[in-house]
Amino acid sequence: SMADVDWVGLAKKSKTLGPNQESSPLKFDGRVVLITGAGGGLGKGYALMFGKLGAKVVVNDLGKNREGIMLADLVVKEIKSHGGEAFANYDSVENGEAIIESIIKKYGRIDVIVNNAGILRDKSFAKMSDQDWELVYKVHIYGTYKITKAAWPHMMKQNYGRIINTSSAVGLYGNFGQANYSTAKAGILGLSTSLAQEGKRNNILVNVIAPNAGTAMTATILPQEVVDMLKPDYVAPLVGFLGHESNQHCGSVFEVGSGWFAQVHWQRSGGYRLDTSRAVSVEDVAANWTKFNSFDGKVDYPKNAQESFSSIVAMLASGGKAS
Ligand code: NAD
Repeated sequence: SMADVDWVGLAKKSKTLGPNQESSPLKFDGRVVLITGAGGGLGKGYALMFGKLGAKVVVNDLGKNREGIMLADLVVKEIKSHGGEAFANYDSVENGEAIIESIIKKYGRIDVIVNNAGILRDKSFAKMSDQDWELVYKVHIYGTYKITKAAWPHMMKQNYGRIINTSSAVGLYGNFGQANYSTAKAGILGLSTSLAQEGKRNNILVNVIAPNAGTAMTATILPQEVVDMLKPDYVAPLVGFLGHESNQHCGSVFEVGSGWFAQVHWQRSGGYRLDTSRAVSVEDVAANWTKFNSFDGKVDYPKNAQESFSSIVAMLASGGKAS
């Protein structure tokens, strides 16, 4: 588990030089970029990067610091101090329409969205209340939906959009004590894979990241050396690339952190078809369990529902066994 790792030893071995955002030829001049939950953590890292790369940055966050100052204002100030352009928005992502409306009013367009705002309400399922369930759903899934839904017609009209949605390893693989969060993060995955297919024809490209970073969300469980190794700055470059017009990649899921980048996709076992010329029984399933579930030999990587279905149809048409 996370707790058994020698994090400090690992961190000592790792150089943490940070990103290069000054000499990047991939610029965002004229592009309007919204980052939700950008008052701290990962979102702040993205906002500062986009600011340095020439974007007009909309920093959304409803949070305040201990002195009662809006986090979004502090990030806007920092972007401006580097010569960038930014403006703050304090709405909850649940009010996606109001957020997008204010952006259109100010800049006349919306090019890139990083749906990043998030919260945790970790509890074992037995102890989880309806409120724990609903709040996590509302911020992650409903918030991502409302923001994206409000921006979608603008992106369709301009035939341009880049959307980066935030899942989590917990959404991909599940975790003890995070049933609400894992449901929400998996839901974001489902929303994104469908929108990727709907958006493509209008050059609206949707991708998903599952980041690992040292932030307020993880600070309580990780030592400082590790937080440094897992700086949001090491996730930001992937978000920058996926958000750029030169990116043509759409509908993929990436795990990313500490300068490490990887893609995740589904693998389906080759499967095995029972002899349907006779009735298929529960015993048949039990007897062929290993054959259904074997990942040795032929496996599939369906990228969408059509590919999933067409390989099954091909198998049926060939009269038999797994494709
Ligand atoms: P964070 O807590 O540092 O930042 C999240 C920000 O979202 C906060 O500033 C908070 O004020 C803001 N926010 C919360 N609810 C909001 C709302 N309704 N409307 C607008 N803003 C709101 O967390 P982080 O670690 O930077 O996480 C960013 C995203 O990455 C989240 O979606 C999180 O689930 C995801 N994530 C993080 C990690 C990690 O290792 N840090 C791992 C997997 C996924």
